[in-house]
Amino acid sequence: MSVEPVILVTGASRGIGHAAVELLLNGTEKFGKARVVALQRTLPEPLVELAARSDGNLALVQGDVTNPEDNARAVSTALDRWGHIDALILNAGIIIEERIADSNLERFAHVLNVNTVSLIATLKAALPALRASKGRVVMVSSGAATGRTSAWSAYNASKAALNAIARTLANEEPEIAVFSVRPGVVYTEMQTEIRAGTAMSAEEKEKFLSLHREGKLLAPRLPAHVIAALAMNGTRESPVMPDGTGMGATGGFLYWDVEQLADFRE
Ligand code: NAP
Repeated sequence: MSVEPVILVTGASRGIGHAAVELLLNGTEKFGKARVVALQRTLPEPLVELAARSDGNLALVQGDVTNPEDNARAVSTALDRWGHIDALILNAGIIIEERIADSNLERFAHVLNVNTVSLIATLKAALPALRASKGRVVMVSSGAATGRTSAWSAYNASKAALNAIARTLANEEPEIAVFSVRPGVVYTEMQTEIRAGTAMSAEEKEKFLSLHREGKLLAPRLPAHVIAALAMNGTRESPVMPDGTGMGATGGFLYWDVEQLADFRE
């Protein structure tokens, strides 16, 4: 049984998930070191190197979040190695751009499957261990959860549903703290895909192009720090919302940069 917290992260091959894993392995001023199991379809060189430098503290599981067997393998990897799981960071996600009139139903369903149905698959596999540790779940949401960007109907719907699952989970599991975090516009491959898209309106696309041109995309490390810190230190009682409720008890949806999350930022 390891003393350090054990955290299961989905989608750590690049972007926000990769940044969160690096922070968890190294520890920061706000939280100590963790042991990590990372589940993603590909194992690019930087991730394999991170595992090689981790003194055995990063276990890589190659698999798909939509596959219950791959989720079960990630959970059993953590339990076999370290005996417990203290938090999940449900970060894996994809985006497609398709206007509703031109939608392909299979692609639409695939986005919902990866971004939303997979949350249930990972949770089903990990909940017994999380109940035992009275652990934490951090879901990586998006402004799209309440947005209306054209050509993003599948992505918008998938993140709105993620927020609904976070709220419901917090209600169903009284000893688990649940958070849904909106990470801002972050410098990752997903943004490269968004800038290359052709289906959203010219004005909407210009917002993303200009953020990139002006160097205003966030470094993945910044929202990843909040996400990792909530996975390490979040509770049902904190952070406290303006109405006095603890965000972890409601599965609340918060932008990474709000005042309530100051203690969790770098
Ligand atoms: P990214 O660089 O494209 O990374 C996405 C990660 O998800 C990759 O590690 C990918 O790994 C993994 N993934 C995708 N499909 C998967 C599957 N079926 N099974 C397992 N892993 C899968 O994107 P990112 O920007 O870091 O996005 C991370 C999260 O942040 C997503 O949920 C996204 O919606 C959210 N977000 C991002 C932004 C932004 O501006 N970037 C803004 C708001 C929210 P493999 O390809 O190796 O499987």
